[in-house]
Amino acid sequence: EGGPALKRAAGLVREVPDFPEPGVLFRDIGPVLADPDAFGAVVHALGRRGDFDVVVGVEARGFLLGAAVAHACGTGVVGLRKPGKLPAVADRVDYDLEYGTATLELPADALESGQRVLVVDDVLATGGTLGAARQLADKAGCEAVGAAVVLELTALEGRAAVPDWDVQALFTV
Ligand code: AMP
Repeated sequence: EGGPALKRAAGLVREVPDFPEPGVLFRDIGPVLADPDAFGAVVHALGRRGDFDVVVGVEARGFLLGAAVAHACGTGVVGLRKPGKLPAVADRVDYDLEYGTATLELPADALESGQRVLVVDDVLATGGTLGAARQLADKAGCEAVGAAVVLELTALEGRAAVPDWDVQALFTV
């Protein structure tokens, strides 16, 4: 399933030990994005379900993927941003990460009530990020259809953070 380009993409995810801190095995999807065929296959697969009105991408690698998925599917894209970047903020959520804590902000006037949202990100780890995205989508009155990620780290059981979501992972480790 997915074809040779998607298979090759799986092999392009780079493992970087002890980044951004000791003990963390960082999964770098940079080489996947840089390869035309792998990038195209990944973008196509992430948007395959098609049952959404808008893509929400999480800063920063979710921006690169989310914008491409949205364009391929003919929707708009909304970026959830780290603090201090947005001129006007609709809402903000603090959450825990595999390494440290973080905050995401939803731009003002970005999501409309009733929109069906697909959240796109590179890696699903603890699920804190998807949980935060869900809170932001909920409070905006959106119906999140779920999330699409390139790689899921299954041992961390991150999908438990969004139990009622349909989470699609292209690859799992
Ligand atoms: P989490 O909120 O724990 O599911 O973490 C997901 C977010 O943190 C994603 O936006 C990833 O970019 C990043 N992340 C967490 N752990 C890793 C990892 N081991 N390798 C690459 N990215 C990670």
